[in-house]
Amino acid sequence: MSNQQSDSGLPSILKKLGAMTAIRDTSMVEQSLLRTLGPLLGILETSFYRVDDYGNVLRALYHTRTVVDALGSKRIVDNLEEVTYEQHISAELRNLFDSVRLLRKSCCRKLGLKLLICYPIFGENQVLGYFVFQRDREVTAVEDAIIQGVLEVFTNYFALLDSSQRDQLTGLLNRYSLETNLDRLWNLLSAKLHSSRDDDNARVNTPQTYWLCILDVDHFKTINDTFGHMIGDEVLIMVTRLLQGSLRQSDLLYRYGGEEFVAIIAANDFESAREAFERTRLCIEQFLFPQVGHITISGGFSSADPSVLPQEVMHRADSALYAAKNAGRNRIYDYDTLMKQGVLQEAATGTIDLF
Ligand code: GH3
Ligand code: MG
Ligand code: MG
Repeated sequence: MSNQQSDSGLPSILKKLGAMTAIRDTSMVEQSLLRTLGPLLGILETSFYRVDDYGNVLRALYHTRTVVDALGSKRIVDNLEEVTYEQHISAELRNLFDSVRLLRKSCCRKLGLKLLICYPIFGENQVLGYFVFQRDREVTAVEDAIIQGVLEVFTNYFALLDSSQRDQLTGLLNRYSLETNLDRLWNLLSAKLHSSRDDDNARVNTPQTYWLCILDVDHFKTINDTFGHMIGDEVLIMVTRLLQGSLRQSDLLYRYGGEEFVAIIAANDFESAREAFERTRLCIEQFLFPQVGHITISGGFSSADPSVLPQEVMHRADSALYAAKNAGRNRIYDYDTLMKQGVLQEAATGTIDLF
């Protein structure tokens, strides 16, 4: 009890906010948010849901705090679980999300003897996430002020972090974001792969594999040289929108370099992945760019096998891209096929230039 009282004191809150804002990774900040707010409210279970522009859950974080009383000495054990593209959202929770989003304020629902309470977390002008917990009583005015205050600091800091991970021109996640998150991404892919293997029969449509493709605009330098840098920039923005339109909402797209993009997608098998990347190539080829006319892209892809180091997967995709450029551009090649054909050794032994 005395612990909880000192937890809700102002110095303690400031200390926790200080710790939270010292973190430089968005996922870690989300985790820290739950570790901060749970004890402040005296609750043992909290969750955070990050949603996209369409309200789909991109990430769910579940925090559970257990107080273990072993031989008279109490120990606190924190457990955090992160799930990407969480599908198992109850109807009550979905309904609550809808109310919170529409009313733009916290809402609660009776859930048996408990109350399910949900706070919105705002992005620039829309809801980017929800903070959720259960309690047997309503939130007091003081608690409400604390939660709102912490969420506001969180939102501001989160936006700052987010902007450092985004490319200014296209708004896509940038190379820094890809590089800092590759290992974490691989762990999540690996966990997803295992969980989908465990219940194969229950979820027939769960994609089994992920694929990474590096896409590069062909002869982009000529576009700059002919039409100027500003038109070049416009082309890059249009290419981005076309790629986003051709990929699915749940796919990841990064601007990896000047006119280079990295796409990571889920697909059931090689053929579906090839078709998806081929669609991106086609949508660029078919689009008539104002002033510039038709342009093309080349791509190289590889299976994002979680048992292979992410840097190696990037290297494989890059080698396939190199081969696609050498073969005349406007095509998507894949590492495995090139290896089987024996084409790649030649390209891979050369310097691994990024285009
Ligand atoms: P390839 O088909 O072999 O890929 O040829 P390329 O001309 O596309 O490749 P190269 O790497 O020679 O040129 C890329 C050009 O992209 C050079 C650089 O000036 C331009 N570039 C890089 N970033 C930007 C940007 O943000 N805006 C504009 N307009 N151009 C950029
Ligand atoms: Mg290029
Ligand atoms: Mg390039």
